[in-house]
Amino acid sequence: MYKVTVLEGDGIGPEITREAVRVLKAAAEKYNFNIDFDYALLGGAAIDAVGTPLPEDTVKRCKASDAVLLGAVGGPKWDNLSGDMRPEAGLLGIRKALGLYANLRPSKVFKPLKNASPLKLGDTACFDVMIVRELTGGIYFGKRGRFERDGVACAFDTEEYSQPEIERIAEIAFELAMSRNGRLCSVDKANVLESSRFWRETVLRVSEKYPEVELSHLYVDNCAMQLVKAPWQFDVIVTSNLFGDILSDEAAMISGSIGMLPSASLSSGSFGLYEPVHGSAPDIAGTGKANPLATILSAAMLLKISLKQEAAAAAVEGAVDAVLSQMRTPDIYEDGLRKAGTCEMTDAVISLI
Ligand code: NAD
Repeated sequence: MYKVTVLEGDGIGPEITREAVRVLKAAAEKYNFNIDFDYALLGGAAIDAVGTPLPEDTVKRCKASDAVLLGAVGGPKWDNLSGDMRPEAGLLGIRKALGLYANLRPSKVFKPLKNASPLKLGDTACFDVMIVRELTGGIYFGKRGRFERDGVACAFDTEEYSQPEIERIAEIAFELAMSRNGRLCSVDKANVLESSRFWRETVLRVSEKYPEVELSHLYVDNCAMQLVKAPWQFDVIVTSNLFGDILSDEAAMISGSIGMLPSASLSSGSFGLYEPVHGSAPDIAGTGKANPLATILSAAMLLKISLKQEAAAAAVEGAVDAVLSQMRTPDIYEDGLRKAGTCEMTDAVISLI
């Protein structure tokens, strides 16, 4: 029996997680395993109920589970609260409390949605890239400050990485490359930054354990160009916190369907937190129009990575691909297809599993 904690969050969060849970239950039944679902509060819902965006009880429940499924947090109701009392503080807090150091963001073109990509994609030139971003180190967590030099105001941030921090993210990326097409591109700025030279040396050393994986290196500026020019050249990309933040958003946009993209944040072992890339969409909350597929695909990642139920994960992904040729929610609607709401789209996915 697996245990999954669900953090519904705010806005469309409860609607889309409800659908993903229905899909997980259907996949579990079909592939003969059991999932026990627990629910805990996060974000605005937690502020309203107990006065804090990340209650202790939520951290405890997540730590006692095999994986966490998260909807999204935030909304105008809480926009005027101060920084550490805002719903987003709950999101950053839970990632930190659970030691989630690897962020996995796939960006792919679903063939039926290829016209949504801002790139001109021929029939065969579709892409499927996995970006692995280091999430708990680097310049976002380094020493920073302000000072004055010769009467001029200055500010600084520091990029710092330890060898174990680089090794553990590189290992996740090599393992992923092994389970995909066997290619890994490490992205840095080793022509300028000492921390990048150290990153490259360390990734090279880790690569000795993975002779089957074809490793390449790119400077981040070149990678940003290559992602737009020919994204199909990439399989897995591994990079630091700052570079990964920027490149994963770029990769998401070129897929043309940001509302379709899942993500995973992993800690040691197989534990992970899974959530859609999009936010809580307060403008459509409660209308039954939210696209549940990014959350359903996050659930598929949960099945594959944390529960090791690879056949069930593949069945869910296949069902999502197939449903796109039958019906669409308004955000991805195209003429000639059936219009569907959140529940109807999920029903179709379930029937295709
Ligand atoms: P958003 O992603 O919530 O919405 C942007 C646009 O995309 C909106 O028009 C929305 O209706 C649409 N959209 C998003 N998800 C959709 C879905 N599943 N189906 C159909 N349409 C969808 O981004 P935003 O408007 O910038 O932010 C709204 C709130 O979400 C803010 O409070 C923000 O802080 C929060 N947010 C949370 C997360 C998170 O929880 N990880 C991420 C981003 C934004």
